[in-house]
Amino acid sequence: MRLRIFTQLQMIDQQLTSLARERDELLALFAERDELRDLREVRRGLASSLRQERAHNSDLQWDLEDVELRLRALEEQERDGPSDPLVARELAILRDRTAQLEEQVLRQLERIAEVEQQLAEQERILEQRSASWVEREPQLQTQVEQLGHTLEALQTQRQGMASQLPRPALELYDDLQRRHRGTALAPIRNRQCGACRARLPTAVFDLLTTDDPLVRCPRCGRVLYHPESS
Ligand SMILES: [Zn+2]
Repeated sequence: MRLRIFTQLQMIDQQLTSLARERDELLALFAERDELRDLREVRRGLASSLRQERAHNSDLQWDLEDVELRLRALEEQERDGPSDPLVARELAILRDRTAQLEEQVLRQLERIAEVEQQLAEQERILEQRSASWVEREPQLQTQVEQLGHTLEALQTQRQGMASQLPRPALELYDDLQRRHRGTALAPIRNRQCGACRARLPTAVFDLLTTDDPLVRCPRCGRVLYHPESS
């Protein structure tokens, strides 16, 4: 009787353990939600730096236009009147400045193209992963819920089983279960403990013929049973 309940409890506990592991693995898949959030954050960052780079480019273009206007005015002045050394000096400075600004604008345009490319790539990845997540999520949710129900049902079944055991027997089972990581019981094979391989003394076999026996392996302490009789 006690042994039969032990066997059933162990079966239920092993199912519970494997279902719980399955559920943990499923729940781990929900990390994709956080990863998508991080990806959106990166996209926001790229979009904002693109805006900044474009604004910087506009500033450079404005500066360039100013310098070019001034340059053209001075060039006309030079053409119309006699050469003024001060004007000639300013012209040289303005031409340098124009060249510098043109160079900066070019670099800035390259920079913008780079960020645009990064942003497009980021959007492509995000779109792909979001789409696949949207497709997978409902199914995962259902699986998690179903597992939850199965676990609950098993827990109820376990409680029913456990309540049929006298308290000391249940405590013994739970203790062995913890100590031996889910194997409170050991089958007898070739007169040995099937778990720790200890050779079993004759006394063990005598005890096993008594009424409702709960005989433990002298070495590992697991409760012994004949595989064919369980
Ligand atoms: Zn043993």
